[in-house]
Amino acid sequence: MSHKADLDLAALPWFQKDACVRQFIEQAWDLFCTFDIHGNLTYASKSFTQVIGFIPQDFGQVVDFIDSEYRMDLYKMFIRTLQSSSSNKLEFRAKSAKQTDIWLDCQAIPIRNETGEWAEISFVLNDITLRKKQESRLVAMAFHDTLTGLPNRRLFKDHLQQMIAEVKRTNRSFALLYLDIDDFKTINDTMGHDVGDAFLQTFAQRIQGCLREVDMFARMGGDEFTILLPAVDCEEHVESIAQRIVQCVDQPWEVLDQYFTATVSMGITLYHKGITDSAKMMKEVDIALYQVKGKGRNHYQFYHSP
Ligand code: GH3
Ligand code: MG
Repeated sequence: MSHKADLDLAALPWFQKDACVRQFIEQAWDLFCTFDIHGNLTYASKSFTQVIGFIPQDFGQVVDFIDSEYRMDLYKMFIRTLQSSSSNKLEFRAKSAKQTDIWLDCQAIPIRNETGEWAEISFVLNDITLRKKQESRLVAMAFHDTLTGLPNRRLFKDHLQQMIAEVKRTNRSFALLYLDIDDFKTINDTMGHDVGDAFLQTFAQRIQGCLREVDMFARMGGDEFTILLPAVDCEEHVESIAQRIVQCVDQPWEVLDQYFTATVSMGITLYHKGITDSAKMMKEVDIALYQVKGKGRNHYQFYHSP
């Protein structure tokens, strides 16, 4: 595609002919632009100013404002539209003149000249940024816990299944830790639900501080959390992290002007060849947690097969 462009609107045959079309295009909020079949930009509507902050003058400026991830898709759509002689659609991300992200829905329409030959491709674009933001918020909400912002049970289960599939292939191992705060009901009952909520949030932050970037920390619900430690294959390594977590929770807490102490219990299991699926691993870790709770809490316990 060449960078040369002629943006003389009046030069476009269909524009000269139809005053109604001209008014419609010049006043619409949607963005309109046309390219000749060689890729030269021949027209860009004034609405580009409102949406992206400038009216592109040539092909180079159009390319620059499209997010690099989508440039090839748009190029392919241009070719497909020419080859198939039919309209094509694509959603892509771009950068405004103020460097903010904009999502655009783009329809490419091939246009014939008066002798019936394909002469240009018109693009109609509309701003779908708001819809895209709402969609990504909904996706995030579906996979994250609203109170702590941590991954939720659903996302955790996906990760666990993926990790099991991966270690089966690579012969590596990983650890699963299941945390349950001790006597959490007492915090709710004596200091109120708001303190309970704020404590869960602070608890999540404190535990996160004990973990590496690669570890996955999720809230399963209530006062129950899980941790996946990838690339660990011996109990000693996992034990040092478990000790760190227990000690860190055992430090005094100040939440919404309330001062108190808290402890956590933890069941732990390491992936081994007997693990068939995620349910088996969850069962093992649950048994280990049950044992710690029975032995007086504030500690961790590895699962060992009977
Ligand atoms: P244990 O030592 O055996 O773990 O007992 P516990 O008191 O911690 O009780 P348990 O783990 O069985 O129950 C957790 C409680 O957490 C039950 C529920 O009322 C409360 N809870 C669940 N979700 C929330 C929440 O989002 N916010 C608050 N504040 N409390 C919650
Ligand atoms: Mg509990």
